[in-house]
Amino acid sequence: MKAEIIIIGAGAAGLVAARELATAGRDVLLLEARDRAGGRMLTIRDPRAQAPVELGAEFVHGSHELMLSLLEAAGIARRERPDDDDDEDWLQEKKIGELLKHVDELSEDMSLAAYVRRYALDPAMGDVAEGMLAYAEGFDAADPEIISVEAFAEEWWSDASIRGSGSRLLDGYGLLVDFMLRSLGKATVHFRSVVERIEWKRGEVVVHAVREGTRETHTARRAIVTLPPSVMQERTIFDPPLPRETQEALRLLVMGPVYKVVMILDEALLSGIEFVHHDETPFPALWHSLPNARTLTAWAGGPSADRLRGLSHEEIIRAAVVSAERALGTSLEKALENAYLHDWQRDPFALGAYSYARVGGLTARDTLAKPVEETLFIAGEACAGQGFGGTVAGALDTGMRAARAILSL
Ligand SMILES: Cc1cc2nc3c(=O)[nH]c(=O)nc-3n(C[C@H](O)[C@H](O)[C@H](O)COP(=O)(O)OP(=O)(O)OC[C@H]3O[C@@H](n4cnc5c(N)ncnc54)[C@H](O)[C@@H]3O)c2cc1C
Repeated sequence: MKAEIIIIGAGAAGLVAARELATAGRDVLLLEARDRAGGRMLTIRDPRAQAPVELGAEFVHGSHELMLSLLEAAGIARRERPDDDDDEDWLQEKKIGELLKHVDELSEDMSLAAYVRRYALDPAMGDVAEGMLAYAEGFDAADPEIISVEAFAEEWWSDASIRGSGSRLLDGYGLLVDFMLRSLGKATVHFRSVVERIEWKRGEVVVHAVREGTRETHTARRAIVTLPPSVMQERTIFDPPLPRETQEALRLLVMGPVYKVVMILDEALLSGIEFVHHDETPFPALWHSLPNARTLTAWAGGPSADRLRGLSHEEIIRAAVVSAERALGTSLEKALENAYLHDWQRDPFALGAYSYARVGGLTARDTLAKPVEETLFIAGEACAGQGFGGTVAGALDTGMRAARAILSL
């Protein structure tokens, strides 16, 4: 097929870019490997849950302008995350802020773990340092020995951080996906179309894809590529390879692992529960989503998730149930009605949950997003700046930025 612009990936970034370009009357072809849109937004409907079951993104981080305007246009209701004292105690937000103040004095970047070893020497800071490392592991899905302290601090002070406001979508991210999909106008969408190679030169891209077993070739003047960074790292997609600067930026980003299990339980067990942190179990964080919902979510990110790799689907769910039993101090044998898990690490179109920057990677996201020869526009959460890397809101920003850059040419 021939189009003016090919967009690869129908997640948050790809959908918003396709919507913007199609609305401006541009000829768009959107290629998506899965049989559904949304990418790492994945909402399951189970009436027993009495709430959406979010296997991917769940929270809206910060008061993000583009996100909020899309939610408003789509008529999607939110519920603010309640202030959680347990969270505050666990995080000791103010003290973490103090501990992070030395970042400005650093002559060069270092890992968060190395930073803690250098600056949290006072035994009184032990708990604070622990809270900070747990935050990096749980929230950023990062290995503290690898994540850049500069990038961590940037996110900490941003509106995307857990310190900022946060909310959930009452009917789930699936509604946002449906809304964006419905508003693609005349754009052509191919599902089950796996892009294998992108040949490119200035002003021309030739995209080789396999759609339901059949090889297809599509040409366009430009492409917006929203593949997760892990997919671009694992596979040789670009021919010729991306410029060295772009490749180096990609190398400085790491795809963090997350296992998220959503259990459907007897309501009585869940009353009064918001967030529970229980470091001694395979799933250190648990939360109950919305009032009246019968879901309890178990979360393991970063090194905790790494320890679960290699287990079978059933074994991971079992580990989540055991973690919940220990944290709640009760058997769930009778109360558990169902449990859901999507293994993002094994999913070939994600290869992990979301990205974080390794040491030296503070500007990697911006560099990755720099258009290449006015022809290739890389977008997606890995390119999002101002602390919004790794989030849906950040991904939306990057898709919009790429679309507008093309419209301005
Ligand atoms: C468990 C989990 C929990 C999360 N929680 C939150 C949260 O609470 N709040 C939040 O803001 N964010 C959260 N995130 C992160 C958020 O989901 C992502 O940052 C965001 O959805 C990424 O959007 P994207 O468009 O950049 O990438 P994606 O959604 O990954 O879109 C890329 C698309 O490319 C497709 N693709 C891949 N390979 C190919 C190929 N070869 N050919 C064609 N298409 C291909 C994929 O199928 C996918 O649809 C979470 C993620 C996970 C996994």
